[in-house]
Formats: sequence, C-alpha cells, structure tokens
Amino acid sequence: MQKSKKDKWVTEFIHKSLQKRSPYTGRFAPSPTGPLHFGSLIAALASYLDARAASGCWLVRIEDIDPPREQPGASDLILKALDVYGLHWDGEVLYQHQRLGAYRDTLAALKGEALAYPCICTRKELASYLPNYPGFCRSRTDAGCPELAHAIRFNAMDQVVVFQDRIQKEQSFSLEELGDFVVFRKDGLFAYQLAVVVDDEHQGVTDIVRGIDLIDSTPRQITLQKALGFHTPRYAHLPVITNEFGDKLSKQNKAAALPLKNPEPTLWLAMKALGLPVDSAIRNGSVEEMLIWAQQHWSLSPLQQQTSIPEASLTLD
Ligand SMILES: [Zn+2]
Repeated sequence: MQKSKKDKWVTEFIHKSLQKRSPYTGRFAPSPTGPLHFGSLIAALASYLDARAASGCWLVRIEDIDPPREQPGASDLILKALDVYGLHWDGEVLYQHQRLGAYRDTLAALKGEALAYPCICTRKELASYLPNYPGFCRSRTDAGCPELAHAIRFNAMDQVVVFQDRIQKEQSFSLEELGDFVVFRKDGLFAYQLAVVVDDEHQGVTDIVRGIDLIDSTPRQITLQKALGFHTPRYAHLPVITNEFGDKLSKQNKAAALPLKNPEPTLWLAMKALGLPVDSAIRNGSVEEMLIWAQQHWSLSPLQQQTSIPEASLTLD
C-alpha cells in the first residue's frame, strides 16, 4: 500500500486535526504471528467503532518484537485484511521493531530507579509457580556472573490495582499474587508488557479496547505506567469468541484466516457478535455503509460483563 506524498500529507493532516478535535485515541495492536481470524476482527472492529463513534483517532501498531513467534508476510496480510474490512487507520503504522531505542531507554530508567532487577531463576525452578513469580530474586542487584543469561523483572511492590473496566466493571488484582513480571527476556528480547506501555504513552493512547484474555496484563501495565509517570488509558475488555470446545479462537487452535473476498457477511457477523442491532437490510450494504451504520449505533451496553461468545451462536439469519 504505497501512498503518494500528497496522500501521506492528507493523512497526517487528518490525523492532526482529529487529535485536536477529540481527546480520544484508540489503537489496534496485533502481533504478526499469522493472518487475522474472526476473533481478531472482533477486537479490531470494536476498537475502531469505539474510536470513530467518539470522533477519535484510531491507530494501528504492529507488535513485531518477538521474531521466534512471527510468520513472514503476516504484517502485510493483517494490514490487507483491515483494509478489505474498511478499518482504515489514521497516520502511519507503528512497527515495534523500530522502537527498540525507546524500550532500551525505559529499561535503563527503571534500573536507575531500582525498580527492576535481574532474575536468574530457571524455568525448572519456577515450574510449580508459573505463570506467577514468587519473587526469589527481588533483592538481587546483579546477576552474579555477568555472562549468565538472565531476565529483568519489574518490582511491582505487591500493589493492589483496581480499575474500572468499561465492560467488565470494577476489577481488582493483587500484584503480590501475580508476581513481579518480566520486562526484558532471558533470550535478549524486550517483553510485551514493557513495549506496550512505552508505545501507548508514545502514541497518546487514551482508550484500549481488547479481548478479555488480556485482562491479566492490564494491572501489570497500570503499575508500570504509574512507575514511569505515564498516563493510564481507559480500558474495555471484550468477550472473546470461542470455538465448539469453548476455547478462545486463536492461531494456536487453528482459527481460519478472515476471507479477503466478499467480506460483507463476515463483517455483519462481527457486528452481530458485538451486540449491534443488525438486520438483513444492513447486510446488503457495502462495507463502508455497514461501518457508518455501526458507528451510529455503537454502544458497549449489550456486552456488559460478558466474557465469551460461542462462534456457533452467530448465524447469518
Ligand atoms: Zn528469579
């Protein structure tokens, strides 16, 4: 999707004027581990509609900082799918692989404030505690032997984090239970939690709309935002779409890639899943017409405190 200079200028102008007009900035931030599936369309569509209904900006960020999990060509396929489904983003796509300097600086700042420490625990030592961390290395100031591969963990100070989720209502998490989390991985890669927090601040994100499968990350990200003096966005955690076994649709359980031809029926089903009062007349519209209608009818009310939606409950009638 090569844009001309003029198009680029127009996009930047729209982006800036939208930023001026609305205090809302949303984002969709997929990892390029495979093409988008119906579950990821739900997250993209909901964050898009929530932003557009508020006359806000909607940004796309490709979270490509975990090469071992990535699939070549997936970023382009994801952007192509967003385009086909009419989910046009503002400004340029941000790629996390271009942001390593910012992550490095943030990690140095955390270390400088003694808010991060080296963890030399092995997977075997932690096996009976994972995914929570028991804090074995918390008082450690160095890894002992500098050559020893080690992770860096954030000291979350056993805080209790309470936040108001726009869909799931008040949420309370104990960081003492979740444990200090990794901000830099033993394999030399920056961790998801650190990169997300740094980029949400960098992009001025005010609202995060994403799947409830990520709700455990939210208290971690909030403690990190507070430690770094960053703004905390509002959160809305969507119910996830589940397959016939009750598992979340995901690349791991081989959810089908979104069709790139004839997107209207799939978009209509996604709108239905999000509780929009769709009817067959809407289904006969173009993608653009469907999205304009959806913006006008957008509300989080039908999703209140829902955690899952069986895919089988969604039919084209
Ligand atoms: Zn440790």
